[in-house]
Amino acid sequence: MSASSDPSLLDEIRSAIRKICGDFPGQYWRQLDQERAYPTAFVEALTASGWLGALIPEEYGGAGLNIQAATVILEEIHATGCNAAACHAQMYTMGTVLRHGSDEQKQKYLPAIADGSLRLQAFGVTEPTSGTDTLALKTTAKPTDKGWVINGQKIWTSRAEHSDLMLLLARTTPRDQVAKRTDGLSVFLLEMKDLVGHGITIRPIRTMLNHATTEVFFDNVEIPADALVGEEGQGFSYILSGMNAERILIAAECIGDAKWFLDKATQYANDRSIFGGPIGQNQGVQFPLAKAYAHMLGAELMVAKAAKLYDEGAAHGIEANTAKMLAADASWEAGEACLQTHGGFGFAEEYDVERKFRETRLYQVAPISTNLILSFLAEKGLGLPRSYGK
Ligand SMILES: Cc1cc2nc3c(=O)[nH]c(=O)nc-3n(C[C@H](O)[C@H](O)[C@H](O)COP(=O)(O)OP(=O)(O)OC[C@H]3O[C@@H](n4cnc5c(N)ncnc54)[C@H](O)[C@@H]3O)c2cc1C
Repeated sequence: MSASSDPSLLDEIRSAIRKICGDFPGQYWRQLDQERAYPTAFVEALTASGWLGALIPEEYGGAGLNIQAATVILEEIHATGCNAAACHAQMYTMGTVLRHGSDEQKQKYLPAIADGSLRLQAFGVTEPTSGTDTLALKTTAKPTDKGWVINGQKIWTSRAEHSDLMLLLARTTPRDQVAKRTDGLSVFLLEMKDLVGHGITIRPIRTMLNHATTEVFFDNVEIPADALVGEEGQGFSYILSGMNAERILIAAECIGDAKWFLDKATQYANDRSIFGGPIGQNQGVQFPLAKAYAHMLGAELMVAKAAKLYDEGAAHGIEANTAKMLAADASWEAGEACLQTHGGFGFAEEYDVERKFRETRLYQVAPISTNLILSFLAEKGLGLPRSYGK
């Protein structure tokens, strides 16, 4: 067991996170939700306490914790009714730089990401015309005398307005000229400050949840040669290697959401008394909650297994994807049971249930939709023919 999976350390993490989150009650999130505003104070509190640098090794100023510890951080944030989506990318997007970046890039960026003086929160992969079919993306990076010039468009680039850096995936070799179908895409780390308004245009997208997501346009954006991360043409594999970590961490957020819904529903089912007793005494109310509880417990085990395998460096693709799917299903089921338990009050904003219900629905689609996980499991887990991206 590594030091950062020690149960007493994990308990300490849970209580430290609960303490921070105690300062950000439902009323705080409700107000932001109405205004579709960014939770700056919450993000600053997490940054100041060092939790967003949890996965950065100590030699670069981070806490040097492992994924198991990071799942505890994110689960607890969500179990308290807060939402880490405004800043979770700060925790794991740097993984691509850590694993594939040059020594200069690591020295330059990781300590600043660890202490929060630089935000790496924007991850530009999805495009409007290619969606999940990442290899079909059209944004290009072409070499120039001084570096690279970027042209194209990204969509759903969350937190771009609140980030100093963006990790961008762009095509550097046309698709019909690559040796392997996964070659020809490259990863770049963009310092956005001087580029926004000078080639980069960010347009917020208002969505059913408060998520600070945007579309980003690149019009002849010039970036230096050293913005390239790792080897030219190998970007797809770099991005894939980070996606499993993201799936495990988002799964942990779903477990936190499920716990919040079940807690809230149980309290309400015990307190709400009609027909001469608490509504929770009726099996019609209990059973959907008990079922969601059982599914959450099962999903929680899979998240723990995936995180452990990840930390051990063992194969974990099946488990990371399964964890993401089961946890997203569990949080959605718990959300549905919680809303139903609250009857009409579930629709009232002041109960926070409808807001969390909207928030947790996202995980059926992003960062990867349930269908694509099922396709992956069918192929890699069961050995059925590949149904996508042939
Ligand atoms: C709020 C929000 C935040 C996001 N943040 C980011 C971000 O920061 N960075 C980023 O790069 N992206 C981000 N995304 C994008 C997200 O990862 C994609 O929306 C998601 O991967 C699905 O892609 P798509 O929307 O293009 O849907 P599509 O790929 O067009 O798919 C549409 C539907 O068809 C189904 N489908 C597609 N192909 C198949 C198939 N072969 N078999 C079966 N079903 C299929 C899918 O499951 C889905 O339900 C975000 C999205 C949202 C909504």
